[in-house]
Amino acid sequence: MPAKKAADSGKAAVKKVATRRAASKARADEDAVSKGAVGKDAVSKGAAGKDAVNKGDVNKGAAVSKPESHTALVRRARRVNRELAEIYPYAHPELDFENPFQLVVATVLSAQTTDLRVNQTTPALFAKYPTPEDLAAADPEEVEEILRPTGFFRAKTKSVMGLSKALVEEFGGEVPGRLEDLVKLPGVGRKTAFVVLGNAFGRPGITVDTHFQRLVRRWKWTEATEPDKIEAAVGALFPKSDWTMLSHHVIFHGRRICHARKPACGACPIAPLCPAYGEGETDPEKAKKLLKYEKGGFPGQRLNPPQSYLDAGGRPAPPLGAG
Ligand code: SF4
Repeated sequence: MPAKKAADSGKAAVKKVATRRAASKARADEDAVSKGAVGKDAVSKGAAGKDAVNKGDVNKGAAVSKPESHTALVRRARRVNRELAEIYPYAHPELDFENPFQLVVATVLSAQTTDLRVNQTTPALFAKYPTPEDLAAADPEEVEEILRPTGFFRAKTKSVMGLSKALVEEFGGEVPGRLEDLVKLPGVGRKTAFVVLGNAFGRPGITVDTHFQRLVRRWKWTEATEPDKIEAAVGALFPKSDWTMLSHHVIFHGRRICHARKPACGACPIAPLCPAYGEGETDPEKAKKLLKYEKGGFPGQRLNPPQSYLDAGGRPAPPLGAG
């Protein structure tokens, strides 16, 4: 994308963020004064246009200043998810894959590294070893060489070759579409299994990765610290059909705005719904500079992102060695 277009897209994203944040605040304020009112958001366009966010004021509408009932928590959590769906209508898994085998391998490789680095590495791997049979019969040293950029490449070579062997020997060379089978594969835990089920088989799954854990705790959706308990607690707040997209929304937000060390609170559209507002940078101008990927006008993690991402002004990641 030409530099000007990218800059315009960045500005547009920031403007959108500011407008949504005002809309969020209006909606949260409305909630605070009309407890029990359920239904469609009634925010007026006029209210959304007024960005009343300033330090010390933005979070007055947050719904968690006093003990929150389960019903109120469900409503707030679902509202957050709806807001996130508007902010990231193009949310998707950030690993490039063309079939379940590629997704399960890419997910295993993503441990301790970024999806970007995995996406830059897997094209060479899958070009040389397109099927589980090919990878199971590979020369480990050659696989190690390809996987070197992902870190821990010897262990990862063992994992993906062992996984391929198990697919060939126990599942006829096909990735199984059931949780109980997937978790039996070497190197595949519940997190990887849910990524595969949700994105390659269309079966609902919650992906409790590091971003998901951090954000749902910031939002006080759960106090749990173990992934299985987080998965159960958050799963209980949403219908199953929401689980996969919820996971993408939360992870997208964690990567772009609600960062581990410096969340960009001042540029966060869901600030009025967030009990952790103020944990990060609240100055809007400084916060905007913390935004990442398409929200900051930068390339994403996928070399082949979905069309919806490109249509929204997102840019593909560069291949390995190109940037
Ligand atoms: S901690 Fe800050 S950036 Fe994260 S969701 Fe809350 S307001 Fe947004």
